[in-house]
Amino acid sequence: MDTGKKIYSSIIAAIIGDSLGVPAEFNSQQELSLCAVKNMFGYGRYDHPQGTWSDDSAMILCTIESLCSGYDIEKLGHTFCKWLFDAHWTATGVVFDAGIATVVALDQIRTEGKSARESGSKLEQDNGNGSLMRILPAALFFHQLQLDDFLERIHEVSSITHAHPRALIGCGLYSLLIRELLKNNDKIAALHRAVALALEYYNKYPEFKKELCQYIRILSFELLTLEEQEIRSSGYIVDTLEAAFWCFLKNESTSTTLLSAVNLGLDTDTTGTVAGGLAGVQYGLDDIPENWLNSLARKEEIDQLVNQFTSTIINGTTSPET
Ligand SMILES: [Mg+2]
Repeated sequence: MDTGKKIYSSIIAAIIGDSLGVPAEFNSQQELSLCAVKNMFGYGRYDHPQGTWSDDSAMILCTIESLCSGYDIEKLGHTFCKWLFDAHWTATGVVFDAGIATVVALDQIRTEGKSARESGSKLEQDNGNGSLMRILPAALFFHQLQLDDFLERIHEVSSITHAHPRALIGCGLYSLLIRELLKNNDKIAALHRAVALALEYYNKYPEFKKELCQYIRILSFELLTLEEQEIRSSGYIVDTLEAAFWCFLKNESTSTTLLSAVNLGLDTDTTGTVAGGLAGVQYGLDDIPENWLNSLARKEEIDQLVNQFTSTIINGTTSPET
């Protein structure tokens, strides 16, 4: 696959993962083992029709729209506010599934005029997966930057809603793997390289260094040896990152990665989104059933936006340095 196709497939697979997970959200792994998700379906948890994606994809699409005209963190913060308060880039005109830390941060931007650079919580208790679930477009957009610049941009984008060092590392690790997968077809080699780069960078800074132990199952590659029952898929950023990496490493196609992610249970839509980004860049969309693709809400508008974003990155029509 060429880079453009990898970028496009990554985003679409993330949105499909979100849509697959929405009706099954908060079911446990045990419940889903008795009644596994095998196909895209509708209603369930939020009573929305098949193909309805949630806050994860909405914020991904807002990020893409904002980055298409160049990187500006304040503009990005305001675009997120348009989603939360005006239902911009929602599947059906309804905002649902928004996380608490995200709502608090965006409310500070909208109602208090706070800078997007200062809006995200730095508290340890606010280490949910709310920035990890939407970081994919930033990883794709900035992938050609050098390591330090790349991670600084990723951290800024996370910090709009989630600014604790643990959340920043989680977004950094995920983005580094996306960045490596864009140039390396061997996913295990890409994982090793992403981990090596993460350690090289984060060990330089005490505030990050002391958080690295939280990600030990990834950084030690122990994750590769774990069974499904040992994987947690809650809304905690460490659990989501582990779950997404585990599904990606255990499966050899996009559709099986997505189903594996959703069937872990709990935060199904976000695990599906995060795993989908990895699977799409690696395997593309060829094995995705037609009816999954065609049932996506606002499919044509998504296609147009994602194609524009892909061209922006490939043609360098907008410099990521701006
Ligand atoms: Mg969601």
